[in-house]
Amino acid sequence: MTFAATVLTLYPEMFPGPLGVSLAGRAMAEGKWSLNPVHIRDFAADKHRTVDDTPAGGGAGMVLKVDVLAAAIDHARELAPHAPVLAMTPRGKPISQARIRELAGGPGVTLLCGRFEGFDERIFAGRNVEEVSVGDIVLSGGECAALMVLDACIRLLPGVMGAASSGAEESFEDGLLEYPHYTRPPMWEGRAIPEVLRSGDHAKIAAWRKQRADEDTRLRRPDLWERHRDARV
Ligand code: SAH
Repeated sequence: MTFAATVLTLYPEMFPGPLGVSLAGRAMAEGKWSLNPVHIRDFAADKHRTVDDTPAGGGAGMVLKVDVLAAAIDHARELAPHAPVLAMTPRGKPISQARIRELAGGPGVTLLCGRFEGFDERIFAGRNVEEVSVGDIVLSGGECAALMVLDACIRLLPGVMGAASSGAEESFEDGLLEYPHYTRPPMWEGRAIPEVLRSGDHAKIAAWRKQRADEDTRLRRPDLWERHRDARV
Protein backbone atom coordinates (compact mmCIF):
# COMPACT_ATOMS: atom_id res chain seq x y z
CA MET A 1 0.00 0.00 0.00
CA THR A 2 1.25 3.46 -0.85
CA PHE A 3 1.10 6.17 1.78
CA ALA A 4 -0.45 9.10 -0.10
CA ALA A 5 0.47 12.63 0.94
CA THR A 6 -1.46 15.63 -0.34
CA VAL A 7 -0.07 19.07 0.45
CA LEU A 8 -2.19 22.19 0.07
CA THR A 9 0.21 25.10 -0.37
CA LEU A 10 0.86 28.40 -2.08
CA TYR A 11 4.37 27.13 -2.86
CA PRO A 12 4.03 23.68 -4.48
CA GLU A 13 7.57 24.08 -5.85
CA MET A 14 8.86 23.56 -2.29
CA PHE A 15 7.91 19.86 -2.61
CA PRO A 16 9.30 17.24 -2.48
CA GLY A 17 12.36 19.40 -1.65
CA PRO A 18 14.36 17.58 1.02
CA LEU A 19 11.98 14.61 0.79
CA GLY A 20 13.26 13.92 -2.72
CA VAL A 21 16.66 12.73 -1.44
CA SER A 22 18.07 10.04 0.85
CA LEU A 23 15.67 7.69 2.67
CA ALA A 24 12.45 9.49 1.70
CA GLY A 25 13.53 10.06 -1.90
CA ARG A 26 14.43 6.42 -2.38
CA ALA A 27 11.16 5.32 -0.76
CA MET A 28 9.22 7.59 -3.12
CA ALA A 29 11.05 6.18 -6.16
CA GLU A 30 10.16 2.70 -4.91
CA GLY A 31 6.49 3.64 -4.65
CA LYS A 32 6.29 3.36 -0.87
CA TRP A 33 4.77 6.81 -0.66
CA SER A 34 3.40 9.33 -3.12
CA LEU A 35 3.19 13.09 -3.03
CA ASN A 36 0.64 15.41 -4.57
CA PRO A 37 1.33 19.11 -4.01
CA VAL A 38 -1.85 21.09 -4.71
CA HIS A 39 -1.75 24.83 -5.36
CA ILE A 40 -4.19 26.65 -3.08
CA ARG A 41 -4.39 29.44 -5.65
CA ASP A 42 -6.16 27.08 -8.05
CA PHE A 43 -9.21 27.35 -5.76
CA ALA A 44 -9.47 31.14 -5.80
CA ALA A 45 -12.74 32.11 -7.44
CA ASP A 46 -12.06 35.64 -8.71
CA LYS A 47 -10.15 36.66 -11.81
CA HIS A 48 -7.16 37.90 -9.80
CA ARG A 49 -6.99 34.52 -8.07
CA THR A 50 -6.97 36.18 -4.66
CA VAL A 51 -6.09 33.89 -1.75
CA ASP A 52 -5.76 36.40 1.07
CA ASP A 53 -7.29 39.58 2.43
CA THR A 54 -6.68 42.11 5.18
CA PRO A 55 -7.44 41.10 8.77
CA ALA A 56 -10.86 41.98 10.14
CA GLY A 57 -10.35 44.44 12.98
CA GLY A 58 -7.17 45.79 11.41
CA GLY A 59 -3.53 45.04 12.00
CA ALA A 60 -0.55 43.89 9.99
CA GLY A 61 -0.38 41.17 7.38
CA MET A 62 -2.87 39.17 5.38
CA VAL A 63 -5.21 36.32 6.25
CA LEU A 64 -5.93 33.27 4.07
CA LYS A 65 -9.52 33.37 2.83
CA VAL A 66 -11.87 30.78 4.29
CA ASP A 67 -13.78 30.14 1.05
CA VAL A 68 -10.56 29.41 -0.86
CA LEU A 69 -9.25 27.16 1.92
CA ALA A 70 -12.54 25.25 2.08
CA ALA A 71 -12.53 24.63 -1.68
CA ALA A 72 -8.94 23.35 -1.50
CA ILE A 73 -9.74 21.05 1.44
CA ASP A 74 -12.88 19.73 -0.28
CA HIS A 75 -10.80 18.93 -3.36
CA ALA A 76 -8.22 17.07 -1.26
CA ARG A 77 -10.99 15.10 0.48
CA GLU A 78 -12.28 13.98 -2.90
CA LEU A 79 -8.80 12.83 -3.91
CA ALA A 80 -8.07 11.13 -0.58
CA PRO A 81 -11.33 10.58 1.30
CA HIS A 82 -9.77 8.58 4.15
CA ALA A 83 -6.73 10.74 4.86
CA PRO A 84 -6.93 12.97 7.93
CA VAL A 85 -6.48 16.68 7.18
CA LEU A 86 -3.86 18.43 9.30
CA ALA A 87 -3.54 22.21 9.31
CA MET A 88 -0.09 23.53 10.19
CA THR A 89 -0.43 26.26 12.80
CA PRO A 90 1.48 27.40 15.90
CA ARG A 91 -1.94 27.44 17.62
CA GLY A 92 -2.33 23.69 17.12
CA LYS A 93 -1.66 20.70 19.33
CA PRO A 94 2.06 19.93 19.39
CA ILE A 95 2.64 16.92 17.14
CA SER A 96 3.93 13.82 18.95
CA GLN A 97 5.73 10.69 17.89
CA ALA A 98 2.62 8.73 18.94
CA ARG A 99 0.46 10.73 16.49
CA ILE A 100 3.10 10.34 13.77
CA ARG A 101 3.02 6.57 14.27
CA GLU A 102 -0.78 6.56 13.90
CA LEU A 103 -0.58 8.63 10.73
CA ALA A 104 2.13 6.41 9.26
CA GLY A 105 -0.11 3.39 9.87
CA GLY A 106 -2.96 4.96 7.89
CA PRO A 107 -3.67 5.56 4.19
CA GLY A 108 -1.87 8.91 4.10
CA VAL A 109 -2.34 12.48 5.16
CA THR A 110 -3.44 15.84 3.78
CA LEU A 111 -1.42 18.80 5.04
CA LEU A 112 -2.68 22.38 4.84
CA CYS A 113 0.08 24.98 4.86
CA GLY A 114 -0.56 28.53 5.98
CA ARG A 115 1.27 31.69 5.00
CA PHE A 116 1.16 35.35 6.05
CA GLU A 117 -0.81 35.77 9.30
CA GLY A 118 -2.42 32.36 8.89
CA PHE A 119 -5.94 31.01 8.37
CA ASP A 120 -9.36 32.58 8.77
CA GLU A 121 -10.37 30.88 12.03
CA ARG A 122 -13.78 29.84 10.66
CA ILE A 123 -12.15 27.11 8.59
CA PHE A 124 -11.73 25.05 11.77
CA ALA A 125 -15.42 25.17 12.62
CA GLY A 126 -16.51 24.65 9.02
CA ARG A 127 -14.26 21.71 8.14
CA ASN A 128 -13.02 18.74 10.11
CA VAL A 129 -9.37 19.70 10.37
CA GLU A 130 -6.77 18.77 12.98
CA GLU A 131 -4.69 21.76 14.05
CA VAL A 132 -1.05 20.76 14.46
CA SER A 133 2.02 22.64 15.65
CA VAL A 134 5.62 21.52 15.20
CA GLY A 135 6.85 23.42 18.23
CA ASP A 136 6.77 26.75 20.00
CA ILE A 137 8.44 28.60 17.15
CA VAL A 138 6.99 30.76 14.38
CA LEU A 139 7.76 29.76 10.80
CA SER A 140 7.07 31.95 7.79
CA GLY A 141 4.85 29.25 6.32
CA GLY A 142 3.46 25.80 6.96
CA GLU A 143 5.59 24.13 4.27
CA CYS A 144 8.59 23.40 6.50
CA ALA A 145 6.21 22.07 9.16
CA ALA A 146 4.53 19.82 6.58
CA LEU A 147 7.94 18.54 5.44
CA MET A 148 8.75 17.69 9.06
CA VAL A 149 5.51 15.78 9.58
CA LEU A 150 5.94 13.89 6.31
CA ASP A 151 9.59 13.08 6.97
CA ALA A 152 8.68 11.66 10.38
CA CYS A 153 5.89 9.52 8.86
CA ILE A 154 7.84 8.26 5.86
CA ARG A 155 10.76 6.84 7.83
CA LEU A 156 8.26 4.65 9.71
CA LEU A 157 6.64 3.18 6.59
CA PRO A 158 7.27 -0.55 6.10
CA GLY A 159 10.59 -1.23 4.41
CA VAL A 160 11.84 2.36 4.48
CA MET A 161 14.38 2.12 7.30
CA GLY A 162 15.31 -1.48 6.59
CA ALA A 163 15.30 -4.46 8.89
CA ALA A 164 18.09 -3.19 11.13
CA SER A 165 15.96 -0.62 12.89
CA SER A 166 12.25 -0.51 13.49
CA GLY A 167 12.65 2.87 15.13
CA ALA A 168 11.32 1.32 18.32
CA GLU A 169 14.37 2.31 20.38
CA GLU A 170 14.33 5.91 19.25
CA SER A 171 13.72 9.03 21.32
CA PHE A 172 10.08 9.47 22.40
CA GLU A 173 9.04 5.96 21.40
CA ASP A 174 8.86 4.87 25.03
CA GLY A 175 8.32 8.37 26.37
CA LEU A 176 12.05 8.87 26.96
CA LEU A 177 14.95 10.42 25.09
CA GLU A 178 17.24 7.88 23.50
CA TYR A 179 20.61 7.03 25.10
CA PRO A 180 23.71 8.73 23.57
CA HIS A 181 25.72 7.17 20.73
CA TYR A 182 29.44 6.84 20.09
CA THR A 183 31.59 5.46 17.30
CA ARG A 184 35.29 5.16 16.43
CA PRO A 185 37.84 6.53 17.17
CA PRO A 186 37.80 5.21 20.74
CA MET A 187 39.78 8.27 21.91
CA TRP A 188 39.19 11.76 20.53
CA GLU A 189 40.88 14.89 21.93
CA GLY A 190 41.36 13.08 25.22
CA ARG A 191 37.74 11.95 25.40
CA ALA A 192 37.09 8.22 25.53
CA ILE A 193 34.05 6.20 24.54
CA PRO A 194 32.47 4.97 27.81
CA GLU A 195 34.27 1.75 28.77
CA VAL A 196 31.05 -0.26 29.19
CA LEU A 197 30.21 0.16 25.49
CA ARG A 198 33.49 -1.56 24.60
CA SER A 199 33.06 -4.37 27.12
CA GLY A 200 31.03 -6.69 24.88
CA ASP A 201 28.76 -7.39 27.86
CA HIS A 202 25.32 -6.93 26.32
CA ALA A 203 23.40 -7.00 29.60
CA LYS A 204 25.68 -4.35 31.08
CA ILE A 205 25.41 -2.25 27.93
CA ALA A 206 21.60 -2.45 28.00
CA ALA A 207 21.56 -1.43 31.66
CA TRP A 208 23.89 1.51 30.98
CA ARG A 209 21.75 2.67 28.07
CA LYS A 210 18.57 2.44 30.13
CA GLN A 211 20.18 4.41 32.93
CA ARG A 212 21.41 7.15 30.55
CA ALA A 213 18.01 7.36 28.84
CA ASP A 214 16.36 7.85 32.25
CA GLU A 215 18.95 10.32 33.51
CA ASP A 216 19.15 12.41 30.34
CA THR A 217 15.36 12.60 30.08
CA ARG A 218 15.09 13.68 33.73
CA LEU A 219 17.72 16.40 33.30
CA ARG A 220 16.96 17.61 29.76
CA ARG A 221 13.23 17.13 29.55
CA PRO A 222 11.62 17.16 33.00
CA ASP A 223 8.23 17.45 31.26
CA LEU A 224 8.73 14.11 29.47
CA TRP A 225 10.15 12.52 32.60
CA GLU A 226 7.15 13.48 34.67
CA ARG A 227 4.73 12.09 32.09
CA HIS A 228 6.77 8.89 31.81
CA ARG A 229 6.70 8.45 35.60
CA ASP A 230 2.97 9.16 35.80
CA ALA A 231 2.30 6.61 33.07
CA ARG A 232 4.08 3.90 35.06
CA VAL A 233 2.16 4.28 38.36
N1 SAH B 1 0.10 34.80 12.97
C1 SAH B 1 0.31 33.42 13.28
C2 SAH B 1 1.62 32.90 12.66
C3 SAH B 1 1.53 32.75 11.20
S1 SAH B 1 2.99 32.05 10.58
C4 SAH B 1 0.40 33.25 14.78
O1 SAH B 1 0.96 34.11 15.45
O2 SAH B 1 -0.11 32.23 15.30
C5 SAH B 1 2.46 31.57 8.96
C6 SAH B 1 2.14 30.12 8.78
O3 SAH B 1 3.27 29.35 9.11
C7 SAH B 1 1.03 29.57 9.66
O4 SAH B 1 -0.23 29.79 9.10
C8 SAH B 1 1.37 28.10 9.71
O5 SAH B 1 0.86 27.39 8.60
C9 SAH B 1 2.89 28.09 9.63
N2 SAH B 1 3.51 27.93 10.95
C10 SAH B 1 4.22 28.84 11.62
N3 SAH B 1 4.68 28.36 12.79
C11 SAH B 1 4.27 27.08 12.86
C12 SAH B 1 4.41 26.04 13.83
N4 SAH B 1 5.09 26.23 14.96
N5 SAH B 1 3.85 24.85 13.58
C13 SAH B 1 3.15 24.63 12.43
N6 SAH B 1 2.97 25.58 11.48
C14 SAH B 1 3.53 26.78 11.68
